[in-house]
Amino acid sequence: MNVVESEVKALEEIARASSLADLEEVRLRHLGRNGVINQLLSEIPELPRQEDRKTAGGLINSVKEKIENALEEKDRELKKKDLKEIDRSSFDITSPGISPHVGSIHPLTQFREFVRDTFSRLGFEEAYAPHLEEDEYNFGLLNIPPDHPSRDLWDTLYLEDGRAMRTHTSNMQVREMRRRKPPIRVMTFDRCFRYENVDPHHSHTFTQFEVLYVDKDVSMGQLRFLSDLFLKLVLGEKTKTRFRPKYYPFVEPGVGVDALCPFCEGKGCRVCGMEGWFEIAGAGLVHPQVLRNGGIDPKVYSGLAWGFGPDRMLMIKLGIEDIRYFYEGDLRFAKQF
Ligand SMILES: [Zn+2]
Repeated sequence: MNVVESEVKALEEIARASSLADLEEVRLRHLGRNGVINQLLSEIPELPRQEDRKTAGGLINSVKEKIENALEEKDRELKKKDLKEIDRSSFDITSPGISPHVGSIHPLTQFREFVRDTFSRLGFEEAYAPHLEEDEYNFGLLNIPPDHPSRDLWDTLYLEDGRAMRTHTSNMQVREMRRRKPPIRVMTFDRCFRYENVDPHHSHTFTQFEVLYVDKDVSMGQLRFLSDLFLKLVLGEKTKTRFRPKYYPFVEPGVGVDALCPFCEGKGCRVCGMEGWFEIAGAGLVHPQVLRNGGIDPKVYSGLAWGFGPDRMLMIKLGIEDIRYFYEGDLRFAKQF
């Protein structure tokens, strides 16, 4: 095959190549180690005349260059075509990507932040007390001696050594009174535990919030103010509340705090169990004996305690039907808030 023929053939094949794989085959056939061009170059020494060898060498190299240029151009063309095809068919560059999973904050955690924020602006400082507690802090020092009938209010999870999983956040009270000097303003938002038959309204683990305020001349009026201020912030400005006498051994007097049912406005509906009111918080003035147990003279100081169950309040506020959702760790639940 002469040089001109091989040039024509190579350029034809390049023009015909319809894919990058085809093109690579053409390149190997002509420019590869055993390709046509090398074949031609190897024949040069056989030419008898020095002049002819020189001419042939130059000619073959210029053909080689033309083939290389044609290959390069075709390569660009084919790559462009490939992209266009991808664009047209399977791959839509305008379609949105796979969005990453975005977490959300558990409703109880969100609420805790709100409650902490609200009460810290009123001067309350956060306090913590153990979940696994000595009997005296959970009961005895709060005016609930071992044989006191009010212990029946709590079905308690005891350990063999006599300690208990705290049944309320009130185990914080005497601990904080002993650690501080009046005026005392502390709050706690944390878990409590009871031996409950688990159902949509009862869980062995639940949350309580409470504040303790000890100072000179602390009164029911302040308790009423604090209670209304907070419940209006949470449930809305129009929320109506009422105090009802209620017995807790560590306060005197003790009150149950009710909020008017926002769904029926007191007429009675399924949500409020036809009552028209929800019991939403418990409170009272700290019992003088509890103050004494905390090392505070009840003749000089008085105190108030006020608290509620955040689970229950959120269930009312957000329309959550089952308390167990809070503690199951199901992302489908948490993602809704
Ligand atoms: Zn109602």
